[in-house]
Amino acid sequence: MPRPKNERIVHKPPLFTEFKPLGVSGRLLGQTLLSLDEYEAFRLADYNGLSHAEAAGEMEISRSTFTRLIEQARKKIADLIINGNLLLIEGGNVHFRKNIIRCLSCGYMFDMNIDASFAECPQCHSVNLLNLAGGFGHGKCCTERSYVQSKMKGGNYAGR
Ligand SMILES: [Zn+2]
Ligand SMILES: [Zn+2]
Repeated sequence: MPRPKNERIVHKPPLFTEFKPLGVSGRLLGQTLLSLDEYEAFRLADYNGLSHAEAAGEMEISRSTFTRLIEQARKKIADLIINGNLLLIEGGNVHFRKNIIRCLSCGYMFDMNIDASFAECPQCHSVNLLNLAGGFGHGKCCTERSYVQSKMKGGNYAGR
């Protein structure tokens, strides 16, 4: 199958991407970088309680790849809590299934499919919106990927 091997699927972007211990200057802290795929492994296994097999299926990766990811994620999160590092969530070879949009006017947040378009906040009609997948440089690439995937699964894309 012509799919790049190392891509992992993350259900939707994390709401928070930076964590810092209180009362210490950031300059004095070590940094822990948690990639988006490690974040997703942690969320699926330890927050949602999925088995490794189920979680690997969600991320469209092998079980052994998942086991490696979750072990890395737990090690980093333990290190961060014990040593009081700054945590940044970023990077990783991933695409999103869903996006999260946050209204900067009223604070309302809503999920939408990654390929859906959005123009205004459904609560207050503001156009001052933050696109979380976009903040990670994602959006179009995820849409193209899901199109290719559905075509490969034998979808009815006549004429393409
Ligand atoms: Zn709003
Ligand atoms: Zn993408």
